[in-house]
Amino acid sequence: MKEKPNIEITENDVQTILQTNYQDFRGIVATGVYCSHCKREHLNVGIKEYTITLNDLNDVHLKGKCTICGRDVGRYIAYGEMEKVYQRAEEFRNAYKSRVNMKIVKKD
Ligand SMILES: [Zn+2]
Repeated sequence: MKEKPNIEITENDVQTILQTNYQDFRGIVATGVYCSHCKREHLNVGIKEYTITLNDLNDVHLKGKCTICGRDVGRYIAYGEMEKVYQRAEEFRNAYKSRVNMKIVKKD
């Protein structure tokens, strides 16, 4: 079986895949990110200017900047462990293949 590529997806795509879990996603984006710099101040930081990657496990990886100090931060969310989300991600991938602008993200 061919390994699934990591693909960069949009905010709309993540909403399509997560559906009811999208509110949770928005909460993480707003205040659920770890920043080693802001941790000292015990601040709840969010992430801005982020890219969203759907990886081969159908987990979501955010990369962007801390909403408070602007340093690079990331957040990995294991949505692929949720059966319904995983299934929707698979359906999304099947539909996504026909897109001309599909962005495959190089694996780390
Ligand atoms: Zn920070």
